[in-house]
Amino acid sequence: MTADNHVHTRFSPDAKGDPEEFVLRAIKLGLKHIAFTEHVDLLYKSDPSFVMCDLDEYFGYARGLQNRYSDKIYVSVGLEVGYTAQNKNLNADIINRYRPDYVINSVHEVGGVDCWFDSYFSGKTPEKAAREYFEAVLSSLNAPYPFDAVGHVGYVARNAPYDMPLAKLAPDLINEIFRTAVAADKIVEINASCPVTRGVTVPCAEVFGMYVNAGGKKTCFASDAHNPSDIGRGYDAFTKLCATAGIATQTVKQNGKETSLPL
Ligand SMILES: [Zn+2]
Ligand SMILES: [Zn+2]
Repeated sequence: MTADNHVHTRFSPDAKGDPEEFVLRAIKLGLKHIAFTEHVDLLYKSDPSFVMCDLDEYFGYARGLQNRYSDKIYVSVGLEVGYTAQNKNLNADIINRYRPDYVINSVHEVGGVDCWFDSYFSGKTPEKAAREYFEAVLSSLNAPYPFDAVGHVGYVARNAPYDMPLAKLAPDLINEIFRTAVAADKIVEINASCPVTRGVTVPCAEVFGMYVNAGGKKTCFASDAHNPSDIGRGYDAFTKLCATAGIATQTVKQNGKETSLPL
């Protein structure tokens, strides 16, 4: 295990642990790269206290750690931006102002409700629930700000009240998303937070296979840890998907450039 590209520390409202604890744990595990990807979900309606931390404080503190540990590990000071059609220009302002090292563009809320919550699914067929989510992901690829990775494609299934065979519910949209992501040279992360709850990664094997069929080669490991002990969680599931896809490296961003690290 060389890199974990998606972790949330105490600077995210739903996570615990000081960033330094994450760095020390990552070094102990032998990682060469860790990316803080704190939540920025502007205009988030599902829980107004969630939106984001004090970004001045976060960037100041995390840049200090980045320098302090630079001889042991690459600490990437990033953000996970929750895209909506309403907040996209505000996200652009934040990214222009803070210049994060790494940006994951994710879709959490669709139509004002996070698809993590049961209320997102009420009154919708599984097909409608899936398609509205993927339509939002497709528009997120045209975000008016620079981003590096497409976050957890298939998030709608992660906490759904029923099993969602995404590849059957929205194959056309998923194919279009991956064609667009490949053309735009984006990383499609494999988010491994799901084995804990549903036994699959996000994207799942079937959906990730559609990315590979679309010519996708750039992926990276994302534990989506919300406390230091979850760093590296689900790494086996990640390497299994990579092996099936014939992918032998993960793509990470260091010093403003993409580089490959062995799995
Ligand atoms: Zn997310
Ligand atoms: Zn996350």
